[in-house]
Amino acid sequence: MSEHSHEDLASLTRRIAACRICRDTPSGPPLPHEPRPVLRVGAGRALILICGQAPGARVHASGIPFDDPSGDTLRSWLGVTRETFYDEDCIGIVPMGFCFPGHDSKGGDLPPRKECARTWHGPLFALLPPPRLMIALGLYAQRYHLARVGRPDLAARTLHDSVRNWREVWTATSILPLPHPSWRNRAWVARNPWFESELLPVLRQAVGDALGPRGIEPPAT
Ligand code: SF4
Repeated sequence: MSEHSHEDLASLTRRIAACRICRDTPSGPPLPHEPRPVLRVGAGRALILICGQAPGARVHASGIPFDDPSGDTLRSWLGVTRETFYDEDCIGIVPMGFCFPGHDSKGGDLPPRKECARTWHGPLFALLPPPRLMIALGLYAQRYHLARVGRPDLAARTLHDSVRNWREVWTATSILPLPHPSWRNRAWVARNPWFESELLPVLRQAVGDALGPRGIEPPAT
């Protein structure tokens, strides 16, 4: 039995906060900066869990997830205020990689570090109670969480196919697949008007149902 077999959530999140695997014993090239794990699970009571990709450079600097234009877009999709978004009893945030992975040669963000899911996601999701609503942002999170809940067959090859299939995924798993709210996906959103006309109303209703009396804000017009 490992020394961490009966670990509680507070102890696990302390170990995650101190994690330096991608600097000291990485699977590939080491992180080009000091790791700074960014996630929010509080006491593990979040009604909604947002599972995304990895922090960007701005979030790496602030330590606050989605404290950037992507976060503003996400909050408008969800129809929630910053106050609700950052209330850990309302919303938890667990990306596939907890640290900013650095930039690729074109200046884009690298994929989430694989070390993170291999090391931390198993014990973390074993300790987190199932939320009322899980939102998977981007393909990495969609593939991981659909496999985790026993439906890897629903994982699509492309982000478009993954999100286009949202009704089947939602019905089968209670996971809502969304694109990452990055500016890089603005053109995709514009090309796929069903996302705003069909999926977002269902998302906002699901958010309102999950938050219950805490309520949600009307979407920005
Ligand atoms: S990305 Fe994950 S595994 Fe890598 S240093 Fe950060 S917390 Fe540790």
